[in-house]
Amino acid sequence: MKLTVEALNPELCMGCGICKGVCMKSAIIYERNDIGQFLPKVNKEDCNQCGSCYAVCPGKGIEDSAIFNSMGQKIPEDEILGKIRSCFNAKITDENLRKKCTSGGMVTDLIRFLLNEGFYDVAFCVEDDNFEDQVNTKPQYKDSDFTKSAQSRYIAIAHTQMINYILKNREKKVIIVGTGCVIAGIRRVIERYKLKHNNYLILGLFCSMSLNYNSYDYLKLFSKEKLIQCKFRSKENGIYKYGNMKLVYRNGDSRYLHFIQKGYLKEYMLQERCLYCTDLMAIFADIAFGDNNTASADGDSTSVVVRTEAGENILKLFPKERYQIEKIQPEKLCRKGTLKDRRKHKKYAEIYASEKKVDLYPDRQSLITKQEEYEKIKQELDEKIKKICWGSNKKNLRKLYILLKIKMMRLQIFKRDLLNPIEGIKND
Ligand SMILES: Cc1cc2nc3c(=O)[nH]c(=O)nc-3n(C[C@H](O)[C@H](O)[C@H](O)COP(=O)(O)OP(=O)(O)OC[C@H]3O[C@@H](n4cnc5c(N)ncnc54)[C@H](O)[C@@H]3O)c2cc1C
Ligand code: SF4
Ligand code: SF4
Ligand code: SF4
Repeated sequence: MKLTVEALNPELCMGCGICKGVCMKSAIIYERNDIGQFLPKVNKEDCNQCGSCYAVCPGKGIEDSAIFNSMGQKIPEDEILGKIRSCFNAKITDENLRKKCTSGGMVTDLIRFLLNEGFYDVAFCVEDDNFEDQVNTKPQYKDSDFTKSAQSRYIAIAHTQMINYILKNREKKVIIVGTGCVIAGIRRVIERYKLKHNNYLILGLFCSMSLNYNSYDYLKLFSKEKLIQCKFRSKENGIYKYGNMKLVYRNGDSRYLHFIQKGYLKEYMLQERCLYCTDLMAIFADIAFGDNNTASADGDSTSVVVRTEAGENILKLFPKERYQIEKIQPEKLCRKGTLKDRRKHKKYAEIYASEKKVDLYPDRQSLITKQEEYEKIKQELDEKIKKICWGSNKKNLRKLYILLKIKMMRLQIFKRDLLNPIEGIKND
């Protein structure tokens, strides 16, 4: 039996911070490696081999049946779409707050309402940017400044403080925000420590990837000034539908980068674990939130998927005048290509399993039937990994910066159409 998270292959770790949160011996610290991952390191002298860190780790694999059982649900027919009780697009009516949020502001305003009205004691969100160390979620209370926590951070976020808190304050009512992988780990923690399900509202964020921390070092290369904030989806520039990246510096300067830069980061600085992940739509959440990618996509509304009865009851409390909604059919929630891409990730996971003998989805059937298909997918996976290994390596960051500058210039000269929304961005 594997007892500590050090037994986990490093490429499967997404730095979620859950193992450190459950370790009652404080035997785990994180050390940043050359490819921008914060990996757990166990101090053997303090560790009593209790096995908790490994038991709750979402990196090692996802057992759908155990997690859905713990939620009182059956395994859904479609493991990508998950269980859907209802779904709709929505935008909050508070325009000032919405401008500061990623899409329709539903996550932030729902949290603000539930805390201010006393339904929950605390919510754990990402409060600020930290370009020197691992970013942790922090507690938000009634009357917190929610404009600071709004916005998605497309980087591996740790949830250590939140796990510490729920284990030490079992009676508190807590809102947890996280991506799919993190939620799988949180569900395991709730189960293993026999916490009361009703005390937690789990808000999931759709997620196609998160970046390693070398991406922050890469963004620092855009100026000699000290970087203090990165808004991955600033709406201030108003030109590109999904917002452009805004970098803010200590001297008050700021610059916008076209959203395509995020696409580049995704190619070169993705966490490898994300290549094996099928959980685009936070299937273990009470309510899941993502960009509205349906026909009415406007970059300013959120798709909301209600997955549990608890989630349904919470939305009944949220006053109808606080948000406008548009009903949608579940099959319209995400583009066909995106779904196909996730199913491909299942195939990547199968290839990983066959090579490393680690079954990441033990409850699911194989999708690869033919040897030729296996070879083709393996080649594609190897190429992707090669690219991220090269891009993620700290010593290549400058080369990557120059390479991507050249790519950007080429797009501006030869493929302007692709960049139409970039018109007016002066600083890219
Ligand atoms: C890593 C990542 C990848 C994503 N990928 C996709 C995608 O591929 N497709 C898609 O449709 N949507 C994706 N999303 C979700 C999308 O970016 C928005 O979060 C969602 O549409 C909700 O918008 P909102 O305006 O309601 O959220 P907001 O009101 O802006 O609130 C966002 C909340 O999430 C918290 N938060 C931000 N980053 C993190 C994080 N990394 N971990 C935990 N909490 C966080 C914030 O503190 C805030 O409370 C992703 C989000 C993240 C964090
Ligand atoms: S619990 Fe999270 S941080 Fe710890 S080893 Fe597993 S994936 Fe990595
Ligand atoms: S096995 Fe137990 S004591 Fe050892 S690092 Fe893991 S959680 Fe901590
Ligand atoms: S793609 Fe999957 S593994 Fe990667 S951060 Fe998102 S939910 Fe986690």
